[in-house]
Amino acid sequence: MRRAFLKKCAAAGGLALLGPSAWKELFMGEGAPGLDMGFRDDAPEKLDRFSRPAAFAVRRGRLVQCVLCPHACILGENDRGYCRTRVVKDGVLQTVAYGNLCTAALDPVEKKPLYHFLPGRPILSVAIGGCNLRCLNCQNWEISQRRPAEVAEQEAFPEELVELAVRRKIPLLAYTYSEPIVWYEYVRDTAALARRRGLRNVLVTAGFIHPRPLRELCPSIDAVTLDVKALTPALFRRISTARVEPVLRALRILREEGVWVEVSFLMVPTLSDSPDEIGRFAGWVAENLGPGTPLHLLRFHPANRLLQLPPTPIEEMEQARRRARESGLDFVYLGNVAGREAGSTYCPRDGRLLIERDGMEVVENHLVGGRCPCGEVIPGVFT
Ligand code: SF4
Ligand SMILES: [Zn+2]
Repeated sequence: MRRAFLKKCAAAGGLALLGPSAWKELFMGEGAPGLDMGFRDDAPEKLDRFSRPAAFAVRRGRLVQCVLCPHACILGENDRGYCRTRVVKDGVLQTVAYGNLCTAALDPVEKKPLYHFLPGRPILSVAIGGCNLRCLNCQNWEISQRRPAEVAEQEAFPEELVELAVRRKIPLLAYTYSEPIVWYEYVRDTAALARRRGLRNVLVTAGFIHPRPLRELCPSIDAVTLDVKALTPALFRRISTARVEPVLRALRILREEGVWVEVSFLMVPTLSDSPDEIGRFAGWVAENLGPGTPLHLLRFHPANRLLQLPPTPIEEMEQARRRARESGLDFVYLGNVAGREAGSTYCPRDGRLLIERDGMEVVENHLVGGRCPCGEVIPGVFT
């Protein structure tokens, strides 16, 4: 019914205006546009103070297209995008996710996970409801699969959030827990302001974004944890309903733009836990991002629509770590696993223990100016 409605809108005017080259430019060869994406007639009656004109919107006759992420939703008046954070009002695409936080917490930076970026520092971590993926295993579905207004708990516009961090001497801000890409305008403005006040910004994302918005954000972002669901396209789609190619492209862009990147990979039993999948993915990371890129293999715990599955067996995780190392990566960590060895950093040259961690806590740090005492440079941002 929704699809039929939107197709009717397309036939009514907007899409017919596009010639073949415009289509190509818009979608960059990424497949069908988002005619069947989004929620019909789901916009609020009135916009409130958490609304702003959305970035990356293209007018198509009576319709509006969002080109922030590869879903490329095509929306009519009062429709809401697939991510739930964008609506069309009076013919203009508006974000409704600007300052209405659902979460604000103080974490250690290791929780993102980031192990080669200012170890042990506190990071003020915020979220707004909404997401452009539908992952079967989502741990945070109670905020990611909701409209921002449904889960908003507190108000913090960019100036207020940055001021809070500065006043409390918290050096880092993280945009995390749900999917910060879909509250792009808030991240963009907050990160730019934070940078001007001497803070650093961290994005925790699944990386499903178009190249231009990502490149425009990069100058304000210092580090990214990017969670990749799988390398095999069909498996990625099954877990998340999205495509893996834009995510791999985002990783390459971040690398090109000089943003520090760590990659996480959740080992979901029977889905994304095969040593072969992980070995191939580690090989891709080593080849495209470099052997010094940290890979965090995360233990699955039953959540959301996968409550029937068991936690990932520890032996399987250790086997996967061996495969990832054999595939060319120097730093492979096991997340959500007890014991110091799983999350500690060792020198790839002489095997020396460099940063000892107990869970999220840094117990000892033997790095000197980002180097092992043997002289080996450890990739990352340590000062
Ligand atoms: S950001 Fe949201 S509205 Fe825009 S294309 Fe992606 S899912 Fe659709
Ligand atoms: Zn060493």
